[in-house]
Amino acid sequence: MLARVIPLMEHRQFVERQLAHSFAESLPTTDVRDRLQRPLRDLRISVTDRCNFRCAYCMPKEVFGSDYQYLPHSSLLSFEEITRVARQFVALGVRKIRLTGGEPLLRKNLEELLVQLAALRTPDGQAIDLTMTTNGSLLSRKARTLKAAGLNRVTVSLDALDEAVFKRMNDVDFPVAKVLEGIEAAQAAGIANIKVNMVVKRGVNDHEVLAMARFFQGTGVALRFIEFMDVGSTNGWNMDAVLPSEEIVRTLNEHMPLVRLPVSAAGETAQRWGYAGPSGQHLPSLGEIGVISSVTQAFCGDCNRARLSTEGRLFTCLFAGQGFDLRQLLRRSNPTIDYQMASTIASIWQRRSDRYSQLRARMPPRGPGESMSKPEMSYIGG
Ligand code: SAM
Ligand code: SF4
Ligand code: SF4
Repeated sequence: MLARVIPLMEHRQFVERQLAHSFAESLPTTDVRDRLQRPLRDLRISVTDRCNFRCAYCMPKEVFGSDYQYLPHSSLLSFEEITRVARQFVALGVRKIRLTGGEPLLRKNLEELLVQLAALRTPDGQAIDLTMTTNGSLLSRKARTLKAAGLNRVTVSLDALDEAVFKRMNDVDFPVAKVLEGIEAAQAAGIANIKVNMVVKRGVNDHEVLAMARFFQGTGVALRFIEFMDVGSTNGWNMDAVLPSEEIVRTLNEHMPLVRLPVSAAGETAQRWGYAGPSGQHLPSLGEIGVISSVTQAFCGDCNRARLSTEGRLFTCLFAGQGFDLRQLLRRSNPTIDYQMASTIASIWQRRSDRYSQLRARMPPRGPGESMSKPEMSYIGG
């Protein structure tokens, strides 16, 4: 069993130092920027490190077996704590919050958290964009209450339509039909913006790309193809298993003509392509696809995402070895804690210069037994 990534720095000392700095030089603003002038716009919150699937690219069974030590409940941020932290992020520029995990729908009474987050307002009085990434296994049961609690978008992960391929990928024998039921339930509940994420692994599910595109074309659901990433240190990643997005677009375009769509939001991870109609122009009724080329065309340049782990550590990059312990700050009884937290977050963001994916190709190859300390996707949130 592998241990969870233990941050190397002594967090208590670090936070004390951050506080001293933050009061001195980085009073919170409503538009904090990092060293590369990237704003803070998107917060991903992992609400649990547990999952009922065992996708080999994320939580391989050999590592996340029955003896795996998940975080005890007392380490998890409570909903009130999550909301309190999220409020500070929104004050500093965050406009979009995504709940993730592990499998977020395994966290009991998640609707209560959604209600609290949906009530947050930006400094100019706007509601935030609230979304969730889920494996869809519990969505058919929960779609209506999630919508009523304030969820306005959802991303459902589905890696194949072929039953055998999908079961092999989730590795718990979970059927495709149940996930599709979840997507239909989300549509019926009135969740207007639904996306489907497909992680594509060469030689595993790449032959499903066309079938998935045909299935979702014209349904109002945007399908997004994600390159298999080297997150964490347990998924046996290697470049040979990555199917470059360019190949996917080329293949699809041969069967279902595509036209490039403009960027719809700064910091958007997906490159968007629309299905073309007979005129050769994008025909909106046919919908669109997206490709997320995290490996072959890194998009660190405008990365505006922060991640809050299940136990309240702030990560400024999916590949950051260390997280900053905000929980410790939260659990101190101090009336100025919210102000301190905003200052600390601002200060951490202002020092950020992460661009792992851009640098990946330039990194020297690692020797046998050498590995970089990277958090697991199920812990940090995708
Ligand atoms: N359990 C939920 C789910 O699967 O949608 C939410 C958490 S999951 C970590 C978030 C997203 O990360 C999913 O769309 C998943 O497919 C993606 N993901 C996980 N490991 C990945 C990897 N190694 N490469 C690319 N995407 C990955
Ligand atoms: Fe679970 Fe999502 Fe990871 Fe699959 S990708 S193991 S569903 S957390
Ligand atoms: Fe953002 Fe880090 Fe991913 Fe680059 S590698 S896009 S900085 S999370």
